Amino acid sequence: MSENWVVVPTCLPVVLRRCPRCAFGRFRANGAFRVNAHHKLLDAWLLALCTRCGDTTKLTVLERVNVRSVRPELLDLLHANDVGLAAELLQDPGVRRRNHIALDWDGAWRLDTGGPDQAHRPHRPDGEAIEVSVGFAARIPVRPVRLIAEGFGLSRAEVERLIAEGNVVSTVRLGGRLCGDFTFMLKR
Ligand SMILES: [Zn+2]
Repeated sequence: MSENWVVVPTCLPVVLRRCPRCAFGRFRANGAFRVNAHHKLLDAWLLALCTRCGDTTKLTVLERVNVRSVRPELLDLLHANDVGLAAELLQDPGVRRRNHIALDWDGAWRLDTGGPDQAHRPHRPDGEAIEVSVGFAARIPVRPVRLIAEGFGLSRAEVERLIAEGNVVSTVRLGGRLCGDFTFMLKR
């Protein structure tokens, strides 16, 4: 028996950066960009608002880039304030490094276990092992223990016990955080 689960983003993650106005540390992007052309050089920023005081912060996307070297599709998305582009950029480690930001994905994703109604999933037959492939629709760092608990309706303590007993096994370490596809097996 096998299942496919997917970690799906439900909204943009919170951007963690200190607000210079109110010293709070959480910003929300909504897909708004600012594009500035100076002669042949282009700057572009993703805008994010402080969740406390509403102040705007700018995350550098393009810096002094020759207009002709920018893909027209990218320019269109920037001008259209495309949320999908914002999501893609926030997932780019290079963008995060350049802007000295981290992300908080709490409450910004859900686990899709493929069932029509996850609350009423049929109980699997006793003793039958189940193999689960977990895919990530975005690079969202989550704890496998939490995913497994949520997917099977168990507590995290129960999942940790199953792992300790060798009844949940995987080729990856299940103790930390993962943001890439993995597979695990629940033996009983
Ligand atoms: Zn603020």
